[in-house]
Order: sequence, then structure tokens, then C-alpha cells
Amino acid sequence: MRALISVSDKTGIVEFAKELTKLGVEIISTGGTYGKLKEEGIAAIEISELTGFPECLDGRVKTLHPMVHAGLLAMRSKPEHMKQLADLNIETIDMVVVNLYPFKATILKDGVTRAEAVENIDIGGPTMLRSAAKNYQDVTVVVDPADYETVLSELKENKEVSLDTKFYLMQKVFMHTSNYDTMIADYLKKEREDYSLPETLTMTFEKVQDMRYGENPHQQAAFYREIGKKTGSLVDAKQLNGKELSFNNINDTNGALELLKEFTEPTVVACKHGNPCGVGSAENIFDAWTKAFQADKVSIFGGIVVVNREVTKEAAEEMDKIFLEVIVAPSYEKEALEILCTKKNLRVLELPGIEVPQNEHAYDLKKVNGGLIVQTIDSKLLKEEELKIVTDRAPSEKEMEDMRFAWRVVKYVKSNGIAIAKDKQTVGIGPGQVNRIWAAKQCFDHAAELIGKDATRGCVLASDAFFPFDDCVEAAHEAGITAIIQPGGSIRDEDSIKKCNEYGIAMVFTGMRHFRH
Ligand code: 5GP
Repeated sequence: MRALISVSDKTGIVEFAKELTKLGVEIISTGGTYGKLKEEGIAAIEISELTGFPECLDGRVKTLHPMVHAGLLAMRSKPEHMKQLADLNIETIDMVVVNLYPFKATILKDGVTRAEAVENIDIGGPTMLRSAAKNYQDVTVVVDPADYETVLSELKENKEVSLDTKFYLMQKVFMHTSNYDTMIADYLKKEREDYSLPETLTMTFEKVQDMRYGENPHQQAAFYREIGKKTGSLVDAKQLNGKELSFNNINDTNGALELLKEFTEPTVVACKHGNPCGVGSAENIFDAWTKAFQADKVSIFGGIVVVNREVTKEAAEEMDKIFLEVIVAPSYEKEALEILCTKKNLRVLELPGIEVPQNEHAYDLKKVNGGLIVQTIDSKLLKEEELKIVTDRAPSEKEMEDMRFAWRVVKYVKSNGIAIAKDKQTVGIGPGQVNRIWAAKQCFDHAAELIGKDATRGCVLASDAFFPFDDCVEAAHEAGITAIIQPGGSIRDEDSIKKCNEYGIAMVFTGMRHFRH
């Protein structure tokens, strides 16, 4: 039995080769791998000896030779194949142990050049893997060091690797090489700054962790990382305390983080089931927390809190008083961390770069039955120069400031979404209603229930899409709303404008809607 070993990741290779040698397997190897085995006193044949040709072009050509590929691809069950091999003086190779140039690690390095990345595209390795895998009935192909053990134990027990295992290893190879090539294709597309939606969608994700279950306990789930450089995304957060994040935690926290990224001043977003329930901006994080908490002291129970400044001891003391599932912040004061970490189940995460916006070219992917709908993320907010005051009364500066605040919030509220705010604090949020007037009424009712009957007086209102009728203005007036921000664009805009003028409400059109379904 002959094995060709050529690995970039040399983990476990010495032990594996040693055991193979003991089992009487003859080893053929390429430059670096050969050197490593020799150092450890393991007998091996250099590839150039087998091919009768030197490795050349800085290792670009090492194993690309008929001596290797005919030796791998010959079907042992076909007499003509075996006769041809004999005529050509080529011997069979029965095992390939290969892992590829570290393309991924290379592109993730800071300051990597295109030339460096390209040089790390492995050519001979995938070729050998594919040759061996295609002929899986006769050749064992090992691409993952985690499989060394299985192969060894089968060889020890049965003197051969079972067809079942060889088939499994073959499948693993094609999964591996296709991911490898996808990674290359993806990298090159980004290098060309090509952000079009391609004919076939190829992206590579790698598993970060299996999860206990999905949205519900009977659903399987795992968390995958998109390969490529990123900053400030949840997948890179460091968990400092608590149980593993669940599927729902990740989904909900992601929504809260997206909203948080809209703010530069100290801000706290409290969120429940993917919708914000309290948002506050202030001069410091303690005050921002107080606003976010007091906006809705009920819904935050068991919720998620994300913060864009270091969590202070004082803020942590307050947070500690309620039951939260997850806290994410760029950093924590030492005492703050001590306080939060006394709660065994509270997931405390540190995410430097929490404020870094998402790449505007990133795809938003939604699985639908039998397909996928893909769009670029909603990275826009509004264009100041396109803001249009449509009422007789212009909003005051204070109202304008609150409307900008509420507009940011409502962008992340499930449609139909309405948010009302005052002094950079949400006062009511109406998410996910099947009609807009219900969303508005929910805001007013909840605010009245949570804070008191007059809570909505002097508030501003933001709506994620236009008012189809003037009923929302009517209800807003009754609740004491003084200014409204909405996209505009309904054929009945005039009705709403007229109503606003009647009641002295100032209204601004953004010209941009933010559905979130
Ligand atoms: P070594 O460290 O043994 O010199 O090289 C091992 C690496 O070379 C492996 O990652 C393997 O996939 C790769 N490799 C093997 N043969 C060839 C070849 O002919 N061309 C290129 N470009 N890479 C090869």
C-alpha cells in the first residue's frame, strides 16, 4: 500500500505517518511535508523521485504529474487500466492525505495583498483530492486531520478501509474543495468590487457552533459565520458569562445591534423578540439605560440589552435589578463585570467595534420554500436634503431632533411599525401589526398603560411607511402628538396633510420607507 502525504496543516501528521509506516504503508511526500517526516525519522520517498521531475516554480508544480494522477485514477477492477499502468511503468497510489494551502487564513490576515492571496490558491492539492475521491472505491482520501484516527483504526482492525468510510471521505473531499473554490471566487468578486447579484449564489459559511435547538425545541440549529473580514458583528463577540446563546438570542440580539449601529451618541437598545421595546440616547450610558428601561419596564423582562459605550458600575447595578437574557457592550468596567457575572444565566458579551456599520453591500438573505430571496441590506436612513415639510407648521428644532431619533428606531420595528418618542426616548412602540392604525393605537395604549395617560402628550411619531388614510393623524392628535415623520407617497397624502394642518401638527416626509417584515 502506498500513501501520498502532502499537507499544509501539519497537525497530527507525524503520528499518523508513524502509524502508517508501522502498518507497512509506503509513504511518498512533497517538500515541506517530506522534511517534517524526515526530521522525525519517518522513512518517505520524495515526490521528485517518484515523478522523475523536480518540484518547480516555487512549488506551483509538485504533484501535477501522470505518475501521480494515473496512479490515483486507475480503476483496479479494469484490466485495461491496470495493463496501461504496467506498460507505462506507473504504480498505484492507494491513499492520499492532503490539506490545502491556507487560503482562508491568508485572506483574513491584515494587509494581505492580492498577490499573496492568489499565491495561496492551491492547485496540485485539490487536483489530487479530486483524482483520489473520484476513484474512491480504490483510494482512501483524507482531507481532515480529524479522520486520521478512523482510518488508522480500520486499517489496524481489517487491514483496509471500508467502502463506507471511503465513500464518506470522498463526499467530504468534494464538500471541502467546493468550499475552497467558493471562498476564492467570493474573495475575487469582492476584490473586483463587484456587488451585483450573481447568476448563482455562492457564499461560504463555516459552523461556529451547534445549538441545542432552533426557534423551538424540536428544530435543529447551528450558528454559521460568513467567511471574510468583519468587525462589530455578533459572530465575533466574546462571551464573558452565561449559557450559550440560543437561536432566538442570536436572532433577537442581531436585530438590536442593527438598530444600535444607527446611533453615535451613548445609546441603549432594549429588545424583545426582534423588536425594540425601549431605546434611549443621552449624554452618558447610565442615563441612556434609564431612558431605555423606563420606556417599557414590562417588556424588557427576559429581554436583550445592547449598549454602545462601556458599561459602568452604576449602570450595571441598575441592570442587575431585572431579569435579562443577554447584554452586549463594547467593554465593561471591572466592577460592572463583577456585578453582571454573579448571575449565572445572564449572557454577557463583549463586542469591540459594536458601532461599526454593516457593509452596505452585504446581502440580506431570506429562505423561502424552494428558494431564497436576496437583497442588499437596508443601509440607508434618510437624505436630509430630501426631507420635506408638508404642513403649514414646520417642526421645532426639538421636534426635529426627536423625529430623527424615532425614525431610526422605527426602521427596525417590524411592519407595520410606529414609534413615538420624546427627549430621545421611546415612549411607545407598535410593531408588526396588520394595519397601521392598530400599530399607532398600540403605541398610545401601551404608553398610557405603562407610563400614564398623558405620556404621549408632546411626543413625535414615526411611521415606517406612508399613512394610507388620515385615521392615524386623527388618533395621533387625540393622543397629543405634535409632529409626525413618515415616508409619504400615498395617494391620500393630501387627506393626512389636511388633518395635520387642522390640528396644528407638523409633518415631515422622508421619501424613503423602511419596511421590515
Ligand atoms: P509541502 O509543505 O509538503 O511542500 O506542501 C504541501 C502543500 O502543497 C499541500 O497543501 C498540497 O495541497 C500542496 N500541493 C501538493 N502538490 C501541489 C502542486 O503540484 N501544486 C501546488 N500549487 N500545490 C501542491
